[in-house]
Amino acid sequence: MNREDFHILEEKVYKKPLIYLDNAATTQKPQVVIDALSDYYSTINSNIHRGVHCLSQKATEEFEIARKTIQHFIHAEHDYEIVFTRGATESINLVAASFGRTFIHEGDEIIISEMEHHSNIVPWQFLCEDRGAQLKVIPFNEEGMLCVSQLESLISPKTKIIAVTHVSNTLGTINPIKEIIQIAHQHDIPVMVDGAQSVAHCPIDVQDLDCDFFCFSGHKMYAPMGIGVMYGKERWLNAMKPYQGGGEMISNVTFEKTTYNDLPFKFEAGTPAVGDVIGLRKAIEYMQQIGIANIASYENELLQYGTEKLLQIDGLRIFGTAPHKAAVISFLVGNIHPYDMGVLLDHQGIAVRTGHHCTQPIMTHFNIPGTVRASFALYNTFEEIDTLVAGVARAKEMLQ
Ligand code: PLP
Repeated sequence: MNREDFHILEEKVYKKPLIYLDNAATTQKPQVVIDALSDYYSTINSNIHRGVHCLSQKATEEFEIARKTIQHFIHAEHDYEIVFTRGATESINLVAASFGRTFIHEGDEIIISEMEHHSNIVPWQFLCEDRGAQLKVIPFNEEGMLCVSQLESLISPKTKIIAVTHVSNTLGTINPIKEIIQIAHQHDIPVMVDGAQSVAHCPIDVQDLDCDFFCFSGHKMYAPMGIGVMYGKERWLNAMKPYQGGGEMISNVTFEKTTYNDLPFKFEAGTPAVGDVIGLRKAIEYMQQIGIANIASYENELLQYGTEKLLQIDGLRIFGTAPHKAAVISFLVGNIHPYDMGVLLDHQGIAVRTGHHCTQPIMTHFNIPGTVRASFALYNTFEEIDTLVAGVARAKEMLQ
């Protein structure tokens, strides 16, 4: 699908055609996004919001149009519920720090899940340490599905927030977040969804989900690195203290007292990544032209095909076998170390990720050192999967 828009896919590595299957780590960028960055810096580069001059006004306009594009893309009620950050990690840190400073006290409890990326574990641990709060964990089963039935028993009157991933970057599981949010809301507990792995692969409607926060990165959805989004419901954002202090986030500053700017600027201290925000908008428009549902269904075909073919290799085990998965396949072959497999695949031009994928608790669950992970995007092909399968088989012969 649309391969010709991604010139990097014409590159050769070790004189072999590049087969890029590390999309859960970051996707490649279509030419329209690269052009948007170049156009921004060659025509309107300027600092935004505070300038009276023409360039600054143009840059501000483009920046705020991007905010609206993102609002519509995730179906947020208001554009000022969209806060720009550096990525999912910063978005989650923002929620943990700001929500935490405002609402978490000694003895309170925070619920996350066993399949979280470290980005959705460590910020909550910081908060627990600072506030004397406690972290509770929803486990997952052998298929890599969250044991949602245990959620009720984890919730207590002290539970203040639940933070859970929409899609696991290691297992591929698509979690039933709507159900989790419904259970949480019956107890008046807000839910933060880590959407880093879902936003490029399925349609998102934050109002339908009714999530309180939704965090994601641009670079996993064909946009530049270093840009991300924290969506928060207006009532939470208004109630929360700011995350970082600096320019733009203030209304009035004196040495005695500072008052804060309106939403979303209260959470956007300092000069933002204007060009990257415009790049993110282009990436979204690019995906919308293809259609998110079309991307999802094509990637699902790749997933089914890849799963079936890889399982034909004797001794290959897949970690994450839930019925509803995003296009991520984590596997091991016999007792071959994932790193060794990754290096041999690399020499055949195949880029996969190996290791714990920033989800060490998942590795502990399965008692494994790591996995090899192939993750697909809209530009991958069935032929590339055939080459991956042949490559894994060849590596297996060499290593066993
Ligand atoms: N959450 C999940 C599920 C992820 O897969 C990742 C990145 O792999 C992150 C959070 C962090 O994203 P970033 O490194 O772009 O901030």
